Parts: sequence; C-alpha cells; structure tokens
Amino acid sequence: MNFAPVHNLVNGQWAQSSGLETLDVVSPLDGSLLSTLPLSTANELDQVVEAAAAAFPDWGQRTIRERAQVAYRYRSLLERHIDELAELVHLENGKTVAEGRAEVAKAIEVTEFACSLPQLVTGEVLEVSPGVECRVDICPLGVVASITPFNFPCMVPHWTIPIAITLGNAYILKPSEKVPLTARRTGELLAEAGLPDGVFQIVNGDREIVEAICDHPGIAAVAFVGSTAIARSVYARATATGKRALGMGGAKNHLVVLPDADLELTAENVTESATGCAGQRCMAASALVAVGEVDHIIERICEQSRAVVPGDNLGAVISAEARDRIVGFIDEAEQAGARVLVDGRGVVVAGREQGFYVGPTVIDGVTPDMRIAREEVFGPVLAILRAGDLDEAMAIENASNFGNAAAIYTRDGGMARKFASRASAGMLGVNIGVPVPREPFGFGGWNDSRFGVGNITGEESVGFWTQSRKVTSRWPEG
Ligand code: NAD
Repeated sequence: MNFAPVHNLVNGQWAQSSGLETLDVVSPLDGSLLSTLPLSTANELDQVVEAAAAAFPDWGQRTIRERAQVAYRYRSLLERHIDELAELVHLENGKTVAEGRAEVAKAIEVTEFACSLPQLVTGEVLEVSPGVECRVDICPLGVVASITPFNFPCMVPHWTIPIAITLGNAYILKPSEKVPLTARRTGELLAEAGLPDGVFQIVNGDREIVEAICDHPGIAAVAFVGSTAIARSVYARATATGKRALGMGGAKNHLVVLPDADLELTAENVTESATGCAGQRCMAASALVAVGEVDHIIERICEQSRAVVPGDNLGAVISAEARDRIVGFIDEAEQAGARVLVDGRGVVVAGREQGFYVGPTVIDGVTPDMRIAREEVFGPVLAILRAGDLDEAMAIENASNFGNAAAIYTRDGGMARKFASRASAGMLGVNIGVPVPREPFGFGGWNDSRFGVGNITGEESVGFWTQSRKVTSRWPEG
C-alpha cells in the first residue's frame, strides 16, 4: 500500500517541509515502502511556533467546558474510525490489527478523561481572612510540545494530545519518524472535530527538530516518550532553557513467580506480557524471576510461547536493525551459558519474506550480570533468572536502573503485599503482567524510566500542562 508523502501540519494546512532530506516510511510487516517523510529543519519550527502562539490567546481563553466539546466530538470520531486507525497502526508499526485496536481504545480512554476535565479543573476559592478572598485559577501554559516513540503510534500521542489541548494549550506533535501516518490521520480527525487551526500542529523529523524544540524560547513545556538515553538528554536540554519537561524512558520489567502461583493464569499472562506487541512495549515482561521450584510453570510458559505464531498472533518488530539487535541479545546470552528453551531466531513468515520478525523466545539460566538481564531488549524475549526466596528476587528487581513496571504471581496476599511495598517501580501488578493503570490513575515509572515529576496521564498530568494563578481580593463594603 502506498500513501502520499508526509507533510507537516502548520496552521491548519498540510505544508511541504523545506528540508531537503527525506526518510522512507517502511512497513515492518513485509519491508514495503509506505511513504516518505521530510526531515524538517530547525528554521521551520519558528513558523510552527508562531502559528501556535497566534492560536493560543483565543483557545486558551475559552472556557474549559467549551474546549471539552471538541474532545467529545473527537472521541466519537476515534470510535467511528477505530478500524481504519488500527489498520494504519498495523501497517506502519507491524503489530497485529487486534493490538492496533487496543491502542486506539486506550486513546479513547484518555480522551474520555479529557472530557471529564471540566469537573476536575474547577479552581478553588477560600475566604482567607475576614472580607479577603483568595481564588486559584488553573491556566494553560501556552505553546507546548510532545515527542513520541514508534511503538504506540496512536496511544502514546494520545497520552498528551487530548489533555494538553483541553486544558487550553496550543500543541505541537513530533511523532516518531518511523510511524508518521497515524499521526497525520490524528491531525485530520482533530480538525474534523472542530479544533481551530494552529491549536494542534505536526512537525516531522528526527534529532535536529527534537533539539530545536528543546531550545525554542517560544515553547513552554516538552513531554517526551522514548528510550532512556534520549529521554535523559531531552529532559536536560529542555529544562536547561527553562522549560517544564517530562521524559518517559525505557524499561526492564521483572515478573516474580512464586511456587503457589496459579498455573494457567500465570503461564498465559506472562506469555502475553512478554510477546504482546512483539515485546515492543515499555510495560512488557522482560525478566522472569523464578522463586524456588516453579519449573512446571516455566514448562507451561514455553508451551504457550510456542503457540504464538509470527505473522499471525505475533506482529513484526520495527526494523531489520531492531531484529538484529534482539537476536544479538539472544546469541550473547547463549554464548555466556544461558539455555534457549524457545528459540525465535531465524523466523521467516511465508509471503512476507522481507518483513522483520522475531519469534517468541524463552531463555533460562540467565544471571544478573548478563547484558540481557540488565538492558532493555524490546523484543518478544523472556529471560529467566533464579532466586531462592522473595528477598533474593526483590534484590534482583531492585538492582535494575529502570523502574517502569514489575509484577508478582502468587495466591499469597502477604507475599504480594511484601512485593508491592518493596518493588522499585512505578506500576505494579499482582497476577497482572501488564499493569497499566486506567484513567484517572496516571501512567508513569520510576528511576531511569522517568525524568521529571509526575505521571504523563491522569490527574497528575493536569499539573504538568497548567499553572495556577492566585488572586487575593478585598472589596470595601458598599
Ligand atoms: P527513541 O528514543 O529512539 O525515539 C523517541 C523519539 O525521539 C522519536 O520521536 C525520535 O525521532 C526522537 N529521537 C531519536 N533519536 C534522537 C536523538 N538523538 N535526539 C533527540 N531525539 C531523538 O525511542 P523509540 O525507539 O521510538 O521507542 C522505543 C523506546 O521508547 C523504548 O525504550 C521504550 O521503552 C520507550 N517507551 C517508553 C514509554 C514510557 O512510558 N516509559 C512508553 C513507550 C515507549
């Protein structure tokens, strides 16, 4: 399938970038060319920021109830176009259509949260001394930007779009250069929902445009989602110029399995966590910490993993480089003495020989010093580490630099409680391998999985996208 070249969305118009360099947008499903994308230059950002700054006074001064009307209409459009959006996500990201639908559903959920903001963001008023009233208004920041990764072309941009916009900001999206097509459709649907020109804009590109966003004096806040090294540098660069910033980074999520865990529930749930979205999600199970004698559960996980079929209920990984990097992790662990129980290397999907696939992989005998135990693999690979008891398991989990998610599988409430009070991660699961909090609870990790303060969605995100104005008044009695 071929799509028109990708353009930037500037002040309501799809404008060809003046950048001379372009990148190919390739479908991971079969390696086919979908479109081309311009690498916008730093100079082009000025125009986009100017248009946002021009749109902001009117949009920011509307009542939040009025702005939420756009979110309501947009929510209906997302629902009406869920099949089309899921198909786009499937084509450009490589995940299955069902996984595409699931991420559009999450985008709808966050948009529904945005629809509820008029009830949440009401401000406060208090008589602070006789005849003196202090009133707090919640105000937008102005022009804000969001930089997003390839792995959720629909969901991750929607962690911020509906909330930041409904709160009154003028918003600039820099989508991943690997998946710009869903973002383009988002821009079309927001316009159809009645969003004024300039309130939502898209600028395409990679490092140069991200750095220009961090440096631009006209942008008040930057939300970034991507890998840890870049989240760290974007956070440092944006805050160095006085911006508010939030940088969500990578992950290494540990699932602790105790001997009393429910066999079927655990095996099914761990396998889904490790292989869903081909392991390319920051909530994916990556390290299974087996406590004591749990071989019967590991055997069942292996059986379940073998039933996950690349090209059928397992999508592609994003690129040939990603596939080779994942395979490199497996090779290196094997050479270091780990045992590959289920091997996803060398997978070819019939009829899609040029696609980028790695099959489900389960590796036992991994030790904490191995690279596969410490670094983010971002593929459908489950590394098994052994621990004698829960304390040892917690020590392994706590030693990770990351801190996005962790989970325990057990029937013992006391053990689950101990785990929940000691794990060093922001999102924990008990018998749930992808413990994504639902709105209004926000999404956010700890440690090197998040730079800055607060969650990127939910009630804490309201503080990120707004500032408060305090008005203290006394009126002489008439
Ligand atoms: P990435 O860090 O390569 O890219 C993210 C964004 O940064 C893209 O828009 C990209 O164009 C831009 N970018 C790339 N190189 C850059 C550079 N040198 N300087 C400035 N900007 C640059 O991430 P990715 O590969 O697209 O996504 C996968 C990563 O995202 C994984 O590490 C995953 O764990 C993480 N992720 C984290 C969360 C979370 O909430 N913590 C959610 C989703 C994905």
